[in-house]
Amino acid sequence: MDAHSMSVTSAAGKKTSRIYQDLKTSRLYGVSSRRQSIMDSVLKLETLDPSRRPHVGIVGAGFAGLKCADVLLRNGFRVTMLEARNRLGGRIFQERLPNGHLIDIGANWIHGTTENPIMDLVKETKTTVGVWDNHSCIYDEDGRLLPLEEGEKYSTLMWDIIEDAFEYSNKHGANIDPGRSLLDFFQEQVVKRIPDTQEDYQRQRRLLLHMAELWGNFVGSPLRTQSLKFFWLEECIEGENLFCAGTYNKVLEKVAQPAIDGADIRYKTRISEIYGKSMAQNNMARVKTADGQVLEFDEVVVTCPLGWLKKNLQAFSPPLPDRLCQGIQNIGYGSLEKVYISFGTAFWLSPSPGESRIVQGFCQWLAPNYAQDSNPNRCLSEIVELGSLGAAAHPTLLFYLYGEQSQHLTSSLRSLPSRKEKDSFIYDYFKPYYSRLPSYDESNADCQPTACFATDWLDDDLAGNGSYSNFQTGLLEGDKDVIAMRSGVPKEGIWLAGEHTAPFVALGTVTGAYWSGEHVARRITQGYWRGREKEKERGVVGVVVDGEKGAEIQG
Ligand SMILES: Cc1cc2nc3c(=O)[nH]c(=O)nc-3n(C[C@H](O)[C@H](O)[C@H](O)COP(=O)(O)OP(=O)(O)OC[C@H]3O[C@@H](n4cnc5c(N)ncnc54)[C@H](O)[C@@H]3O)c2cc1C
Repeated sequence: MDAHSMSVTSAAGKKTSRIYQDLKTSRLYGVSSRRQSIMDSVLKLETLDPSRRPHVGIVGAGFAGLKCADVLLRNGFRVTMLEARNRLGGRIFQERLPNGHLIDIGANWIHGTTENPIMDLVKETKTTVGVWDNHSCIYDEDGRLLPLEEGEKYSTLMWDIIEDAFEYSNKHGANIDPGRSLLDFFQEQVVKRIPDTQEDYQRQRRLLLHMAELWGNFVGSPLRTQSLKFFWLEECIEGENLFCAGTYNKVLEKVAQPAIDGADIRYKTRISEIYGKSMAQNNMARVKTADGQVLEFDEVVVTCPLGWLKKNLQAFSPPLPDRLCQGIQNIGYGSLEKVYISFGTAFWLSPSPGESRIVQGFCQWLAPNYAQDSNPNRCLSEIVELGSLGAAAHPTLLFYLYGEQSQHLTSSLRSLPSRKEKDSFIYDYFKPYYSRLPSYDESNADCQPTACFATDWLDDDLAGNGSYSNFQTGLLEGDKDVIAMRSGVPKEGIWLAGEHTAPFVALGTVTGAYWSGEHVARRITQGYWRGREKEKERGVVGVVVDGEKGAEIQG
């Protein structure tokens, strides 16, 4: 998830809130800390002959896979990580701009600060985070900066409507027509909130609707396709949204360390086929690599992104259960992309001569009618500027794009042969926007772009050719779809983890990916613990695997 997020559930409402109930059940999965310590002492898998310790294969070494490995290793399992890339972190990754600044090309926000384990890691690693005041710098359709008061009015109205939409979706989700979108809700609300008795009401309504388009930067898909019925699933953890100014790199290092120390990590190992236990005589789950190697495990955790699963259902044998396949197909997958452009100085932090406004934090250009050649559909542009991030500041603008604009920009850049041509395409494409910022002067070298970087998650099949899961119109049973994915197929030794299987309150986020890996590892551990208990009762020697539902399978 990116740029914005909302938490609307009050502390008092948590007891009845579906997302908080789900968080409670899915995170703890019946494993109290007391029980966990009993498990640790009874299980003592590490005391087993290493060759008899249960061996788990984890496909993918993003946050879900890394956290899963950590918990399994701590419980005495043998872990092999199979990662198609030559690096760890998946959709958490940093690049260096040609001018030396380190940037996150995937996640860079921490969504929610209350009881968020990522926040603990941020503190532990002394990662610099930033937060901006909600000053609204909004350029209207003609490229004029709206007066502060007017900008704040639209911004406040927009977030109020979003909050109401959450409440509406929460309360009436069951009866909302699956075809209704967040845009439909906005269209009704703007008429209510800006009555036709107000002067200039049509322009006001129009601007507010344009403003609402920035919701797309949160989910990676347009407002008009955001499901209203399942809008409640987009609610985030309580607290602030912090920008990871120092990048996610130290947090990634911390999360990866246990796997680096204790797991067998095989890089450049792309898995193309996954076989459940029922496909083998010896009751082992297996994976086949793209170069034909077959590896055998007691359990396999698949953390490939939802977009990958959608395109690779045939990779599983026996086929995944129908309900699980439906879940994978039904949940949407966004296309958020990011473009960083650095300049000689952060000129936007100084007011233009004779003006008082500067741009700090967020800024939006609504439905521009002044960039017809490059942006004929008048897609909104939005930035956060990184020049005011204290010690971590650099004179860089970070643009967010989604939907058709992401498609257009990434495919245009792919068609250009050289870095130089790509860079000039980016500078020209975004010039209608950055050239309107305070103190911009074309003749001043400090206002010239000096370096840029554009992401292309859409072209990355290991990221599922997109950004992260979301909830699109037409969705009938979004919550059950997520639960079906989260359940996996334990009796086959096939488990799914990843942001798409996260607790509802953290779907699509780094925190969600982390929790999902932890959750699956605990379920697997608990299954083996139950197996060992039964073993002890019967005096059996050898590992008995007890699947999640309690069906005993001989190991
Ligand atoms: C542009 C963008 C911005 C984002 N912004 C934010 C944000 O600000 N805040 C936030 O909380 N979240 C954000 N997210 C979402 C966040 O990055 C993800 O939710 C999280 O990183 C997902 O972790 P994961 O482990 O589920 O998946 P991944 O990180 O994608 O890990 C899956 C791993 O599996 C590997 N893999 C895939 N297929 C195979 C295969 N066949 N064989 C072997 N390996 C395979 C991949 O290479 C990858 O390493 C953003 C994502 C994007 C793309």
